[in-house]
Amino acid sequence: MGLNLTQKEAEKSLLLTTVEKMGRWAQKSSVWPATFGLACCAIEMMSVTNSRYDLARFGAEVFRASPRQADLMIVAGRVSQKMAPVLRTIWEQMPEPKWVISMGACASSGGVFDNYAIIQGVDHVVPVDIYVPGCPPNPEALMFGILKLQEQIMQGIPPKYQRLAMEGHTP
Ligand code: SF4
Repeated sequence: MGLNLTQKEAEKSLLLTTVEKMGRWAQKSSVWPATFGLACCAIEMMSVTNSRYDLARFGAEVFRASPRQADLMIVAGRVSQKMAPVLRTIWEQMPEPKWVISMGACASSGGVFDNYAIIQGVDHVVPVDIYVPGCPPNPEALMFGILKLQEQIMQGIPPKYQRLAMEGHTP
């Protein structure tokens, strides 16, 4: 009995895919986060790797202490003025391509800390690809953000810093 694949089915099959698509699949299946827990949101971030949430299912459980071994920065918590240059340096030390998730109200907008000491949104410091709302966002919300990022990678959407550079802005 012959195998009768439609053109679409054939395109989807691994053997007939392009090297580029396979590269994207490999990349999205092994996004390694750099730990950047700054406040209470970090507790929820840490939970995603435990057995209840099991982020390993999506290949993103390998949190690295070194930015050289990470391609995703999850900013979990408020960013102080003093921490901003450190955060920027760590982001610069991460190899390309790299992505940033802003986790929680404080990281995305300063949250309840509308004062001189706190950066009112980490996108003033590094380009952000995904914003996860909440105070704190629960582990499922963070995982949803990671899945959205994986979709972007699979679709070939460049990271935010690359898009900014293409538009002539300094990331
Ligand atoms: S968003 Fe809420 S839980 Fe997260 S760091 Fe700010 S105050 Fe804490």
